[in-house]
Amino acid sequence: MAKQNHLHCSFCGRGRDEVKILIAGQEGHICESCVEHAEDIIAQELGLNREPSTNTGATQPASSLKLNVRKPAEIKSFLDQYIIGQDDAKKVITVAVYNHFKRVNQKQLQDDVEIEKSNIVMVGETGTGKTLIAKTIARLLNVPFAIVDATVFTEAGYVGEDVESMLTRLLQNCNYDVQAAERGIVYVDEIDKIARKGDNPSITRDVSGEGVQQGLLKMLEGTEVLVPPQGGRKHPDQKMIKLDTKNILFICGGAFDGIDKVIARRVNTNAIGFNVNKEMQDYQRKNLLQFITAQDLKSFGLIPELLGRLPVVTHLNPLDAETLRSILTEPKNSVIKQYVRLFDMEGIALTFDDAVYDFMVEKALEYKLGARGLRSICEGILTDAMFELPGKGETKLHITLEYAHSMFSKSNMSMLKVA
Ligand code: ADP
Repeated sequence: MAKQNHLHCSFCGRGRDEVKILIAGQEGHICESCVEHAEDIIAQELGLNREPSTNTGATQPASSLKLNVRKPAEIKSFLDQYIIGQDDAKKVITVAVYNHFKRVNQKQLQDDVEIEKSNIVMVGETGTGKTLIAKTIARLLNVPFAIVDATVFTEAGYVGEDVESMLTRLLQNCNYDVQAAERGIVYVDEIDKIARKGDNPSITRDVSGEGVQQGLLKMLEGTEVLVPPQGGRKHPDQKMIKLDTKNILFICGGAFDGIDKVIARRVNTNAIGFNVNKEMQDYQRKNLLQFITAQDLKSFGLIPELLGRLPVVTHLNPLDAETLRSILTEPKNSVIKQYVRLFDMEGIALTFDDAVYDFMVEKALEYKLGARGLRSICEGILTDAMFELPGKGETKLHITLEYAHSMFSKSNMSMLKVA
């Protein structure tokens, strides 16, 4: 049975449990999405009149307007395979995504009930899994997905990119298939960086703050947007692509540094000693984020109109040692599993002392690198082995704590220490 779990589609790489059907060939397998995709290609090559598919790697035909949406519990258990903890966020987002796609699939208004879009804001420190959640959802749902950084946009007419160009990325990711892009997901990172400076509308120009929020608002509301096919600034002589954003799901994420104090003020908890020890601070922050509401985001500088279009607000917890330890080994494509695979491809069985995992976590915390740092730490420890072992005929490599220590102190990582 364990062997069965390792089966995967030889074309898109998705595992047995991520697909519905896996057809076996002589030396590989193919999943139902890739069969559909292949059918599209054949139809195109033979000049048959069929709509192209969404082309998101493993695909869903754009012609079939119904999205194959999984039930919330299924979405959540898929997320659980890749993301450790963050249960509150996972649950809230799962429901929002599920409702969003129910809305997209809804045929015609049977009565006057119009389901509104459930765009989402995720608040949490950097490296806590915001992007990972958005990416994993897009992967499950098989829709085009784009990650954009809010900080590159400025109000029209100023140096920077037009807000509309965030849709360029979405179009590029599905080969300019407009129909597919219109049901995609856009993850807008660093939304906190376009907060208005101060709670009052400013009289001076705030070209990268409020102006961008206004631009984003239009897209979130659902409107026909003219998108520059190559991104950047719009030029009068450039041919634009018309895209309706009505059914595009926007997920925004940001660290919102200092929002804990805003929440504390609102919930009227004494911001009990923000200069107490670090452990206590983390604990307070973690607990305060649970109470986050749109009101706090408004106080932080997001305009109320924009918040009105972002009805789902959720939080991610900071990562403690225990969570980091799980992140290292448990997710389906965890850092350790990736290195084991890399060595396996050389015919080398890579194993670790348990203490090495604890050492990596300790360093990630000590150097304030979070989950992102785990990979660099692992790389630092294994670089020499990856350089020397290929072609040497070795079949085993066991990493002891002493070896990890010595390799780490030799690596550039050890110089990164944050004061
Ligand atoms: P954010 O968007 O919150 O800044 P990311 O989602 O980009 O952070 O996380 C960075 C990396 O850290 C991810 O690619 C992943 O490897 C790891 N990571 C962070 N949080 C988690 C988590 N909860 N579970 C598993 N991996 C995580």
